[in-house]
Amino acid sequence: MLVDCVGILVSIAFLPYAAHSLRLGEQEVLGQSTEDLSEWLPVSNPTKSFWIDSPNANPLAAEGSEGALTDNADICIIGSGMTGISTAYHLSKLLPESPSDPLTAVILEARDFCSGATGRNGGHLTPRAFMEFSTYSELYGEQEALKSLAIEHHTAEGILGSLKSAGLERAVDLVEGGHINIFFTEQSELDAKADYEAAKAAGADLRGVEWMEKEYVFSKFGASHPGVRIPAHNLWPLKFVTGLYNITKLKESKLSLSLHTRTPVVSISPLKSESRELLSRRWNLTTPRGSVSCSYVVHATNAYTGHLLPQMRGSEGIVPTRGQIIAVHANASAEALTKVSWSGDPGSEYWFPRPVNASEGEKPLVILGGGREASAPGYERFVIDDSTLNPVVGQSLRQFLPDVFPGKFDETQEPEMEWSGIMGYTRIGDPFVGPVGHGHDGQYISAGYSGHGMPRAFSCGEAVAQMIVANLTGHMWTIPDWLPRRYLTSGLQ
Ligand SMILES: Cc1cc2nc3c(=O)[nH]c(=O)nc-3n(C[C@H](O)[C@H](O)[C@H](O)COP(=O)(O)OP(=O)(O)OC[C@H]3O[C@@H](n4cnc5c(N)ncnc54)[C@H](O)[C@@H]3O)c2cc1C
Repeated sequence: MLVDCVGILVSIAFLPYAAHSLRLGEQEVLGQSTEDLSEWLPVSNPTKSFWIDSPNANPLAAEGSEGALTDNADICIIGSGMTGISTAYHLSKLLPESPSDPLTAVILEARDFCSGATGRNGGHLTPRAFMEFSTYSELYGEQEALKSLAIEHHTAEGILGSLKSAGLERAVDLVEGGHINIFFTEQSELDAKADYEAAKAAGADLRGVEWMEKEYVFSKFGASHPGVRIPAHNLWPLKFVTGLYNITKLKESKLSLSLHTRTPVVSISPLKSESRELLSRRWNLTTPRGSVSCSYVVHATNAYTGHLLPQMRGSEGIVPTRGQIIAVHANASAEALTKVSWSGDPGSEYWFPRPVNASEGEKPLVILGGGREASAPGYERFVIDDSTLNPVVGQSLRQFLPDVFPGKFDETQEPEMEWSGIMGYTRIGDPFVGPVGHGHDGQYISAGYSGHGMPRAFSCGEAVAQMIVANLTGHMWTIPDWLPRRYLTSGLQ
């Protein structure tokens, strides 16, 4: 059992970088905090992450940060992480060709391109295979539980498909190494097995799931714990998002796209218009560089949503929660470590070895995140500052791998890099997807992935793009069979 919120023991199964999914009866717990923040914009001097600050990793970092600001667009997307760029990408796929008059979209990013959670995360694209199935089934029914799995498989397929069709697998260091979750307690293994059986009985696709005895894990990998292996990938998230932006940019005949980094949107106000035209300008976005008027607004600001949508602040909305990562060299070869990605359960650690194609005998750099359990009682909730680190979390991370894999890691080895990033947590761990609601005509949101965004944000952006295109073309949007109904924002207004 891991303590992950104030004074309460919660069981956190399988979503290591999420640590959000609480067992039945405990889901109310996250709603208890009354803390609030006065500042909700990204800080201007974030810690340096391996993904962003490796040489030449972010060619779009300062794109559109100087010169004239686009002051008018059909669609304004706020945020250039996985959600914002996926929304633009899917708009460009869904919109009809219009060489003479394509729709215009502008992406406004407060800092450098993709410098939020997407550029600072753990790099795991691990769709849940059966995790939390019993919990979701009891809370929402079997069909919704199946959809919780479906969206993550749909996302992984979508991401892999977009990479493969553009030939970008190598450019983003895509690795199909699978993911092993090891169990540190008997209870966490029992919980996982119960989820597996429930998912199996409901007809979930469980191909590729392999249960492993402690002895097997030890002989093959060097950790003395039982585990389960599930299909999964890891990749360089910033490079993926950059690739997606470039693909979208090429589809000018459908969506004419511009990007302004280092341009925070500080407020949004309504524009007075008598026109009933869908593309009449409804909203004015204010930035320090001037303002932009547009018809549709997409809030792809995740942890920072509360700045522009104050109704989303607090425990019932989206709670900024700081995560921390180290990049540390192993004391073993790449062959010994294999290409598998890992997480420990219960707990919130997650790691995988890089580089992807290490030379013989090379000691890989391991990207390891988590350690928030050491930061009780706050657990980094309501921390929105990624310019600093929590030394207690850092110490816990340094200790973790040497403890779990004796001999393969050296506890005196200092990390090459250490950084933080801000996740957006919701009360039950699911994002808000859809129209912002009453008084916000034409504004949409997709945010609040609760630390588990890689297998969800891409598809949630797709859903928002579908909604906008349906609205524009006068069609009724129908919920895709892969989208859990409970993600929809009906309760937001
Ligand atoms: C340390 C850490 C580790 C993680 N590890 C994993 C993992 O391994 N696997 C996984 O599935 N998930 C992981 N996650 C979660 C995952 O990274 C996120 O869920 C996902 O990246 C969210 O994408 P996004 O585009 O919605 O948000 P972000 O990537 O945060 O993008 C939001 C963007 O909006 C910008 N912005 C905010 N406010 C404004 C404003 N007012 N004006 C203009 N721009 C603004 C921000 O600067 C930011 O670039 C991790 C997160 C963190 C922080």
